[in-house]
Amino acid sequence: MKQQTLAIHAGYDKDAQGTMAVPIYQTTAYEFRDTEHAANLFELKELGNIYTRLMNPTTDVFEKRFTALEQGAGAVGTASGMSAIFYAIANVAEVGDNIIVAKQVYGGTTTLTGHTIKRFGIETRYFNVNNPSEIEALVDDKTKIILFESITNPSIDVADFDAIVAIANKHNIITCVDNTVATPIYCNPLVIGCDVVVHSASKYTTGQGLAIGGIVIERENLVEKIKGNARYAHFNEPDESYHGLIYSNLPLPLFTLRIRLALLRDLGASPSPFNSWLYIQGLETLPLRMRQHSSSALEVATYLENHPRVKKVNYPGLKSNSNYDLAQKYFPKGQSGLLSFEVETLEEARAIADGTEIFKVVVNIGDSKSIITHPASTTHQQLSEKELIDAGIPSGLIRLSVGLEDSEDLISDLEKALS
Ligand SMILES: *Cc1c(COP(=O)(O)O)cnc(C)c1O
Repeated sequence: MKQQTLAIHAGYDKDAQGTMAVPIYQTTAYEFRDTEHAANLFELKELGNIYTRLMNPTTDVFEKRFTALEQGAGAVGTASGMSAIFYAIANVAEVGDNIIVAKQVYGGTTTLTGHTIKRFGIETRYFNVNNPSEIEALVDDKTKIILFESITNPSIDVADFDAIVAIANKHNIITCVDNTVATPIYCNPLVIGCDVVVHSASKYTTGQGLAIGGIVIERENLVEKIKGNARYAHFNEPDESYHGLIYSNLPLPLFTLRIRLALLRDLGASPSPFNSWLYIQGLETLPLRMRQHSSSALEVATYLENHPRVKKVNYPGLKSNSNYDLAQKYFPKGQSGLLSFEVETLEEARAIADGTEIFKVVVNIGDSKSIITHPASTTHQQLSEKELIDAGIPSGLIRLSVGLEDSEDLISDLEKALS
């Protein structure tokens, strides 16, 4: 089936009432048939609902539908994009290990990898996403995951998947792609050869700025990379917290299963059923919305590129952009709704952001409402001068998330602010 059909039907086979809309299963727990049934569920002899921290029927539809859109093998929903990223890392790395992360990533990912997990004894080694050959020198036998964004936020670079995957596969290391900006509509990293995808569902997924959420999705046959691989010994050895369960022996998508059974069990950042229902509503219209976000963003980028006060526009759909060829290779159908542009100074950038009316000053992306952000004073304020430069964020950089309003109105709004 095509994506637009999957977005509307995948993962939902009607409940006993024949309910057309996916019901919200607003419950904490589930009744077992008897104690034997309960024991079987806990022992994974049978699969079924135990407790909403671990699974929920509404969340299950969301997970299955997103898995279908990404052409993956299995998924686990989380309470936020950040918890999805943290769980992907914590699922493989422990004290003494290291991970390799692109310098150009979301601000929260920079602080998580550069500061918070350092206190857990996990070291982060950074590479420039525009120069993936840097990865080779960073790899050692304690390297557990390579993390990068398909389209980076907010520098709007494009990852060279093939180059990164080639190095990762040579060393048998798991790759994890944050595909929040490109969305499954424009890019399916698991089909390109990556192992794990994470998303913030708070952005284009819900699409109207309604709820915080996230998801981790894994590819078919990821077990091939993990089984017998000394890097991932804890997937190949008995898990004492689960009566000696060996994940790599299970006939199930093992990466997301371990997140569910160990990390959701112990850390608990699971989505609320109501929020899962909102993500599902969003997914139904995601293919349609992405087309509009993309075509309007290209119009806005083209307008800005011809404006005398604008030094530079970063949008991979522009022919002049240094990422144009990579974008044509990996996202030929559209380049999403995010762009950034540079003016001379920090003061000018702030005055422009304050001068728009339709574009609201908000730290979010992927909303139906257009958004303007000055990263250096907001989302990336906690970064040092050096981290800012590494993340590709000059102080005069403005980020736009182009919404679903009429593009002519958006351009005249920017025209006023720039005059
Ligand atoms: C917003 C965002 C995140 C974090 O997601 P939350 O749902 O806000 O926790 C991670 N990565 C990218 C690319 C994002 O835009």
